[in-house]
Amino acid sequence: MAIAATTFAPQNLAPLPCAIDALEPVISGRTLSFHHDKHHRTYVETLNKLIVGTELANLRLDQIVTATVGQPDRVSIFNNAAQAWNHGFYWNCLKPKGGDEPPLTLKKKMEAAFGSVNACKKGLVDSAVTQFGSGWAWLVAEGNMLKVMKTGNANDPLAQGLTPLLTIDVWEHAYYLDYQNKRVDHVNAVIDKLANWEFAAENLEKAMGHYP
Ligand code: MN
Repeated sequence: MAIAATTFAPQNLAPLPCAIDALEPVISGRTLSFHHDKHHRTYVETLNKLIVGTELANLRLDQIVTATVGQPDRVSIFNNAAQAWNHGFYWNCLKPKGGDEPPLTLKKKMEAAFGSVNACKKGLVDSAVTQFGSGWAWLVAEGNMLKVMKTGNANDPLAQGLTPLLTIDVWEHAYYLDYQNKRVDHVNAVIDKLANWEFAAENLEKAMGHYP
């Protein structure tokens, strides 16, 4: 009996994991509406147009990212796939009443890598503020160790073989309606009031499964 090949096409725009106004006042419902329903949706819809009928349509979104990174003839596919993946990940990095105490597994790794939870947070803020132009700040696991990094435009740690734990979108569309040019205020508010450390800890625990 023939078994149909698994297909992931078209890629879907997942709904936000929270209500559109749940992150106020740090991120307004207006910003979230444009960001998810316009920007993120466009990346997903553009990707679907670019991969329809190709072998990439049979891959998961993360697989499309890693399959197209660094390929000059697939820059548009990579950019839209990575942005679709980055945003899906980013929404889960935010939660109402976030920024609380990280779970113990994550806290210990933060202390081992940075000296303290606050030093880890400061590293993330510094990465976010010093990313020149559009991009992302990340907390990642590299093997058994945590580090912070920044990436430009659509680039992400996934494409570099690292394990993303938490991200902050520092494209202007993420904050300009609410903070205008004050990226540092936005980033500090996100870390202090929205950061979903439980999600980061879950990602870490999955990564530690690979690096016991
Ligand atoms: Mn964005």
